[in-house]
Amino acid sequence: MNQEASRLVLKPGREKSLRHRHPWVFSGAVESVEGDPASGDTVSVVARDGAFLAKAAYCPESQIRARVWSFDANDEIDAAFLRQRLQASIERRAALRQGSDAMRLVHGESDGLPGLVVDRYAGTLVVQILSAGAERWRSFWAPALAELTGAAAVYERSDVEVRHLEGLAPRTGPLAGDVQGTVRISEDGIAYEVDLVNGQKTGFYLDQRDNRSLAGTLAAGAETLNAFCYTGGFSLAALKGGAPRVISIDTSEEALALAQRNVQVNGLDAAKAEWMAADVFAQLRRFRDQGRKFGLIVLDPPKFAPTEKHVPNAARAYKDINLWAMKLLAPGGHLLTFSCSGAVSAELFQKIVAGAAADARADLQIRRHLGATPDHAVSIHFPEGEYLKGLWLQAS
Ligand code: SAH
Repeated sequence: MNQEASRLVLKPGREKSLRHRHPWVFSGAVESVEGDPASGDTVSVVARDGAFLAKAAYCPESQIRARVWSFDANDEIDAAFLRQRLQASIERRAALRQGSDAMRLVHGESDGLPGLVVDRYAGTLVVQILSAGAERWRSFWAPALAELTGAAAVYERSDVEVRHLEGLAPRTGPLAGDVQGTVRISEDGIAYEVDLVNGQKTGFYLDQRDNRSLAGTLAAGAETLNAFCYTGGFSLAALKGGAPRVISIDTSEEALALAQRNVQVNGLDAAKAEWMAADVFAQLRRFRDQGRKFGLIVLDPPKFAPTEKHVPNAARAYKDINLWAMKLLAPGGHLLTFSCSGAVSAELFQKIVAGAAADARADLQIRRHLGATPDHAVSIHFPEGEYLKGLWLQAS
């Protein structure tokens, strides 16, 4: 039986989410599998009455049993189809290119390419192949992307937990061209060295670009604290924006070393920057004991809730750091606070932060709700894709 003749037949009523163009088929919705599809093969998904719903990549290991490539029965899922999806994804971002030579080019499900992430760092692309369907087409991505973007090199960083759920082992390494481990990007007038091989995620938090820029505008004259600073993204923006002093905290010595190098690269005054290898939870309390105050605080912690079951603990952690940060805010000071946990909704995050403010006996105003930069846009049919949320708060 050829692979596309394989079918997933859904239980009665379970076709609704696909009719709403949501791209996932959960295992509990599947009544039967016809044919013998291998992991990553394309299958037709049909309703109980046989009505066509979608063509999707099959994954027997995952709770997400299939991820939709197309809702159109006439689409053949082949190299030409995937190439067209890549091209469209890149072209949609044409208007966003100004001011930076780094951006996300493909954002998985939200760009109709489930499980595929592509970030551009100057002349190098970093790819994450995160689903069985994307894995099935592994040899296709790098040459197609190099051709479409003119990138000189493509590197893979599929060392992400979610691959296990798809029955896939982690993989990293060069896919095309001569990959330099560290590349220099330029974002809104600031140069950053990015470690593509050993850095976190694909090397840099491109999703925070607009928020780094906002921090720059708020930093003039403000004693600044950047908690969870990684390679100094917000710190550099604050220094450039005129902060008289920026204290940055991270537990990663490698990240702090690269952050210091980034200060040098930009010719910024190293004497204004202090780097602390410390635990943020403990350090915020120490600052409180010392009576320290800051005019700008950035809290951009790692994903405290990787899944739904971690949400209660994550909520406590978010509340803790926000509460202590609020106690450190000078009157009129600004707090940029974030969560990148997909399992914590924007509403829940705001509730947690409000709880922290109540306990800190702090009056704060929400100046703006914050999110990821537009190259990380989320499909309107896929709210799960909206992982980064934040609040710009100002103390009374
Ligand atoms: N704001 C950064 C990204 C932060 S990612 C940017 O814009 O580039 C989260 C960072 O938190 C990581 O660098 C990680 O090393 C650090 N980290 C995780 N737990 C920590 C802790 N308890 N104390 C301090 N840093 C921590």
